[in-house]
Amino acid sequence: MAVKKQIAKKAKKQTPKANPAKKKLVNLPEVILPSPEKVEAWGMNSFSMSSVLKPTSEKEIEEIFQYAAYTDTKIAFRGGGCSYGDAAINSEGIVVDLSNYNKIIDFDPKSGILTAESGVTIKQLWEFGIEKSFWPPVVSGTMFPTLGGALSMNIHGKNNFAVGTIGEHIQEFTFLTPKGNILNCSPKKNQDVFYSAISGFGMLGCFLEVKIKMKKIYSGKMKVWPVVTRNFQEMFDYFEAEYKNSDYLVGWVDAFGSGKNLGRGLIHKSINLPKGEDPDFPDNCKLENQDLPTRFLGIIPKSWMWVFMKPFSFPLGMRIVNYLKYLSGFLSNNKPYTQGHAEYSFLLDYVPNWKYMYKPGYMIQYQSFIPKENAQEAFEEIFALCQKRKIVSWLAVFKKHKPDPFLLTHSVDGYSMAMDFPASDRTREKVWALAYEMDEIVLKYGGKFYFAKDATLRPGIPERFFPKENLKKFHALKKKLDPKSILQTDLYKRIFLN
Ligand SMILES: Cc1cc2nc3c(=O)[nH]c(=O)nc-3n(C[C@H](O)[C@H](O)[C@H](O)COP(=O)(O)OP(=O)(O)OC[C@H]3O[C@@H](n4cnc5c(N)ncnc54)[C@H](O)[C@@H]3O)c2cc1C
Repeated sequence: MAVKKQIAKKAKKQTPKANPAKKKLVNLPEVILPSPEKVEAWGMNSFSMSSVLKPTSEKEIEEIFQYAAYTDTKIAFRGGGCSYGDAAINSEGIVVDLSNYNKIIDFDPKSGILTAESGVTIKQLWEFGIEKSFWPPVVSGTMFPTLGGALSMNIHGKNNFAVGTIGEHIQEFTFLTPKGNILNCSPKKNQDVFYSAISGFGMLGCFLEVKIKMKKIYSGKMKVWPVVTRNFQEMFDYFEAEYKNSDYLVGWVDAFGSGKNLGRGLIHKSINLPKGEDPDFPDNCKLENQDLPTRFLGIIPKSWMWVFMKPFSFPLGMRIVNYLKYLSGFLSNNKPYTQGHAEYSFLLDYVPNWKYMYKPGYMIQYQSFIPKENAQEAFEEIFALCQKRKIVSWLAVFKKHKPDPFLLTHSVDGYSMAMDFPASDRTREKVWALAYEMDEIVLKYGGKFYFAKDATLRPGIPERFFPKENLKKFHALKKKLDPKSILQTDLYKRIFLN
């Protein structure tokens, strides 16, 4: 069996430790864990030294659960490792990396329903779907998350205000609980688990096979309007005026703008082309017409771009870069153009490894979600505070949201702001202190946080933004499905077990 082989192979160079579980269990695979390796948060802000197992089948995942139950070993699942903080690392146990559990099993072109193993990535989904005129209903700003990771965090896209989170497009999934039961879950079957595992940040069990309804498209391109907004007021006004006429909306904010320019930025609104409007369809759905360009200006390989960005990675440099980006918006202001789905959706993947420009330090992303009545006031206060503390976000992204029915959802009827901050061991205390101050502003305005992005929340904060009954239900379900509390990540320990 592959897990056993992997374990045995990796273990060759180390002295195998006697495994107490072997004696107790007749059928337990001979588990010798591989040497611990560094498993890092996407933002490079934390890591664990963990033994990593890479199962390729349901059976192997079941065996890992058996092993963990008998040896009282803690497990953290990991998909693409795209969570910015410690959501997929484990300082006190095994990391189960599901990225090799990644087959697309079935697709029905009539209904658009695709069945896949939970390690399938968004990249696999769109590349599989687009030539058949289908696109994933919800995608994140990067294409590397897996379905399992996306469901655990219940990810949102730039179309959240219109179509909700990914959970709302899931027809059904099978779910392995730490007790060893496989449940079929849908909005009608095992509803409790369906609505809690989606958003349950990997703490209730393992997503196995997932059925997702893909979205029909009638062009490989979208129509995009770039719009300059001179302050928060203009940005909010545009979103409110346009969201009903848009499929996707995203705002970029220059966090260095102040005074009457506080919140200045650029919006990209887009719509899917309706049936019959695109003469180049279906040709422009071919993969070769969708892939992101590999070179910048046709010359510099994209993978080197972060090296060119590095000289600007200090506050004044970033102030200049943000200002130039804002000014450049005027050149194309309100001039619509068409753009491929992948190009529009995965802007951040244009520059592979862009996060390395934060080295030798690291980064955190601070994303808050505020009800629409208070959002402008809250973001104005947050931006002013950052400027006062002289720790200004290098990249800030604005989105509109709607509520959804999942237990620990981050979404609200309102707006979010995702702010990237540089940090290092030298500045860590100051950056974290700023995050704590921002927490109080977010909570004062009735806002929420998102575990996929979090690196700084403290114990007691979730109790202040999740409804009491939701947390109670979550803890009760955790006890029922995972009575030995096998599933633990560093994030879970940080916010709930401290
Ligand atoms: C550049 C960038 C842009 C992003 N843009 C967005 C965005 O626009 N919208 C958004 O919502 N998010 C966004 N994200 C965040 C990202 O979508 C989430 O963190 C997502 O959960 C990552 O999926 P993953 O497969 O990498 O999971 P990981 O980060 O590896 O794990 C996330 C969680 O899922 C659990 N998990 C993983 N697989 C399984 C499984 N099979 N069963 C049970 N639990 C499992 C893990 O234990 C962990 O708790 C972005 C991230 C990056 C780096």
